[in-house]
Amino acid sequence: MKKLRILVVEDEPGIVRVLEPTISAAGATVKVAWDGREAVTHLKDAEYDLVLCDLGLPDMDGKELVGKIREGSDIPIIVLSASGAEEDRIRALDAGADDFVGKPFSAGELLARIRAAVRRRSPTRGAQKVRFGELEIDMERRRVVLQGEEIRLSAREHSLLRLLAQSSDGVATHREIIEEVWGPDARAETQSVRVLVGQLRQKLEEDPSSPRIVRTEPGIGYRLSAPRTAAAELTYE
Ligand code: CA
Repeated sequence: MKKLRILVVEDEPGIVRVLEPTISAAGATVKVAWDGREAVTHLKDAEYDLVLCDLGLPDMDGKELVGKIREGSDIPIIVLSASGAEEDRIRALDAGADDFVGKPFSAGELLARIRAAVRRRSPTRGAQKVRFGELEIDMERRRVVLQGEEIRLSAREHSLLRLLAQSSDGVATHREIIEEVWGPDARAETQSVRVLVGQLRQKLEEDPSSPRIVRTEPGIGYRLSAPRTAAAELTYE
């Protein structure tokens, strides 16, 4: 097990004063960059496991920074954004961020998102079988087992579920879902995504009208959610 190194890009001392002890208490190392340029320098100088990035930076737009980082790295990036700034969140995700956490945030949620983003980075990608809580997904054979019972899915339902599982606990945006399920040139719309998600919920959820597995991220997309242990440790294999 190794200690995670997290680069926090944030210009508000008040937020840094909360973030630093929260993340350190969970066993990770924190380095702070106070603006975008400093963040780029830190990323060149040392290895990090994750970037936590504010969207409003003094020298550049957080989305611009996300794009810059993405040009040369697939490091997990979580953006911090003021609640209500839905457009900003979508643009940050489109620029290559893995997830977002709204301000004000709870320590528990922030740590869970960090763990998920780091976990997602390698172990499930390219794997044939993914286990997610009580859900087991065989990527190749289009076979899904929930609580020991096989669930039959259509090709589209399966590619939607596969995408959500690969983004495990991060968000898949409407656009990502459309490109994955219908193809990059498809004319499918958000409404088609909604219908497909509804079909998948009918098959997976105990109560499709209050879904616990395929969760809605209003205005943005969906995320797969599974009950997990609440250990506040930021380590991985
Ligand atoms: Ca700021």
